[in-house]
Amino acid sequence: MSDEAPDTIHSAGLPGLQAPPPVGSSALPAGTYEGTTVFVTGAGTGLGKAIASEFARLGASIVIASRKAEHLDAGVEAIEALGGAALGVECDIREADSIEAAFDAAEERLGRPSVLVNNAAANFPVPAEDMSPNAWRTVVDITLNGTFLCTREFGRRHLAAGTPASVLSVGASYAWTGGPGFAHSAAAKAGVKNMTETLAVEWGPYGIQLNALVPGLFPHEDMTEDIAGNLAATSDKDACQPALRVGRRQELGWAATFLCSPYARFISGHTLVVDGANWQRRTLTMPPVVTVRDQMGRGPFEP
Ligand code: NAP
Repeated sequence: MSDEAPDTIHSAGLPGLQAPPPVGSSALPAGTYEGTTVFVTGAGTGLGKAIASEFARLGASIVIASRKAEHLDAGVEAIEALGGAALGVECDIREADSIEAAFDAAEERLGRPSVLVNNAAANFPVPAEDMSPNAWRTVVDITLNGTFLCTREFGRRHLAAGTPASVLSVGASYAWTGGPGFAHSAAAKAGVKNMTETLAVEWGPYGIQLNALVPGLFPHEDMTEDIAGNLAATSDKDACQPALRVGRRQELGWAATFLCSPYARFISGHTLVVDGANWQRRTLTMPPVVTVRDQMGRGPFEP
């Protein structure tokens, strides 16, 4: 037997994890979110839109908060196509005033949101030595500071009114493991996870529940060029997952709607990973280390 490890372990013929039920089905009773307003940042694209759609299917009115008019329009269109009520509000989550104005508009039009989904984030792969100070600050400002500012605004309104509420922040598994090529985003997501744990304790006594939700690989058509280009380097995305498939967007939405539902009231301060165990993968053999520069096809570092 050769002592050289094979490059790939062929999994052809193995079933992987089963496909989920189709889009449109739900484990929660119809109308679970009837009369509820759900505020979702970045809900005009990708996973935010998918999460918002599952809340809408269960009767929620949706506030879509982000910066670009075309994203707001796309989000409203997606929710209305499901027969739901939606309001698009322009909001830059880096700015406390902008967030306050967005919540004011939401309250006026749809009633006070009792669920906040912190989905908006910024990200692009770059070796740390090539990362500009501005790139670091921008990603941390949107992903960590923006998530805190939205949560703070939402929490203060509920503390003042004495009303129960639920916050769900979308994270990433490199909050635990680190993420080569994503130093800025990984550090920011680690902060989001930690903030969730802190505030779950601080605000639990007031009836405010906080959790986080970590997607695995959920490719979608709105991915930025940087992220899509990075993904394109992996030829068969299904074969690279222990589940032998990537995530279907409704699977993330189902987890989100469960975590903010009455059936998850005693779950708080938790981060749920929905990734078919990909983040726990380790190789039995030790494949050679490939630097982030090489993975990204970058030449030697030049200061
Ligand atoms: P995406 O399509 O790039 O969406 C990001 C959203 O955030 C956009 O709708 C954008 O809208 C909004 N946004 C960005 N900066 C903002 C700001 N300053 N203020 C308000 N809104 C802002 O990303 P995605 O792939 O759907 O990811 C959604 C979440 O899942 C993120 O938290 C991401 O880290 C996480 N995640 C995704 C994957 C995946 O496989 N896709 C894996 C792990 C984690 P505007 O441009 O209109 O502002």
